[in-house]
Amino acid sequence: MDFAEDLKQRIRGVIGTEKDFVPLHVPEFHGRERELLIDCIDTGWVSSVGSYVDEFEAEVARLSGCAYGVVVANGTAALQVALIVAGVNAGDEVLMPALTFVATANATTHLGAVPHFVDSAYDTLGICPERLRAHLEGVAEVRDGQTVNRQTGRRIAAVLPMHVFGCPVDMDRLNAVLIDWPMEVVEDAAESLGSTYKGQLCGSLGTAAAVSFNGNKIVTTGGGGAIVTNNEALAKRAKHLTTTAKLPHKWAFLHDEVGYNYRMPNLNAALGVAQLEQLDTRLAQKQRLFDAYADALRGLNEVQLFHAPEGSVSNNWLVTLVLDPAHAKDRDHLLQELNDAGIMSRPIWTLMHRLPMYQSAPRADLTQAEDLEARVLNIPSSAYLGAREGAAA
Ligand SMILES: *Cc1c(COP(=O)(O)O)cnc(C)c1O
Repeated sequence: MDFAEDLKQRIRGVIGTEKDFVPLHVPEFHGRERELLIDCIDTGWVSSVGSYVDEFEAEVARLSGCAYGVVVANGTAALQVALIVAGVNAGDEVLMPALTFVATANATTHLGAVPHFVDSAYDTLGICPERLRAHLEGVAEVRDGQTVNRQTGRRIAAVLPMHVFGCPVDMDRLNAVLIDWPMEVVEDAAESLGSTYKGQLCGSLGTAAAVSFNGNKIVTTGGGGAIVTNNEALAKRAKHLTTTAKLPHKWAFLHDEVGYNYRMPNLNAALGVAQLEQLDTRLAQKQRLFDAYADALRGLNEVQLFHAPEGSVSNNWLVTLVLDPAHAKDRDHLLQELNDAGIMSRPIWTLMHRLPMYQSAPRADLTQAEDLEARVLNIPSSAYLGAREGAAA
């Protein structure tokens, strides 16, 4: 049998045959969402302050292994502010994988810093520590305790590990590189709420981290994000900056710097509170789905189901297939066949340095990222796929 046909049938075996179209990832509402939203409307607390904002911040922090959380309008804004409070300035460079969603690079650009793209690892799909070390040895030097790009003269202020589709970056290996190349670590934990690296929650593995609650993420507030950190001073600064930098006063409008209106409305936070109450169930359902795919795809030689390495636990946000190198050329045919059959599937992102606005950004040799770009795809990953409907809450 044709391999695309074989794969299609195996996927159908997991997701069922009832639906004509199966999306990549749908939001799920099986808890108190309706109740808490109605409460916002009944009490009038729908906008930028309210008790759900405070409650949601505390829960997001706790579920990220951090003491503090500041919720904002979206994950991109969270990333920008996490970088600012971690000490990244306009004109600095920030190391990040070329294989990421565009928001990682955009958030950096929004604050006037420069994305500097590095290679990815086969075992995590995230930043490759060894390739990073080799690149830094080629282009950087340490001056007065700071890493500087010799080619551009700019300070390399931070590295942004992004936990791809929920799989944690190998932080021990990354931190081993940073012993010789001092810089801040800011996590792009947009996709990895609930994932752990050696028992530690993603979001708590650097100076600060950004989480996203966009509609396609593992839990959603419609749109939203959070900055999480264990550093109280950074959290206070993040809150201040994202709330127009207004000084507390009963009536006066006093602002002490150019802040942002990045606040998350209480309405969205209410949705988030209800969503986080279901995070454990959600993670269990994601694991169930992953295991079902693992069973169904066993023995298929043309593609491998990607899994997190030993020591890491992924939240299994998006189920990921890696084509065997000999079948990289079949990717587009496969995507066509799956999508035509109503099984929504997508390639991984186009590498950042191919996008017009990032073509001239500094970058490392990206051989592994280019290889992965050609071979990685996602298949339907909604938490309750193939499970009894409403087996939810
Ligand atoms: C979703 C996402 C973000 C930020 O998302 P928003 O849509 O702005 O909430 C940032 N980085 C990555 C890798 C993402 O997947």
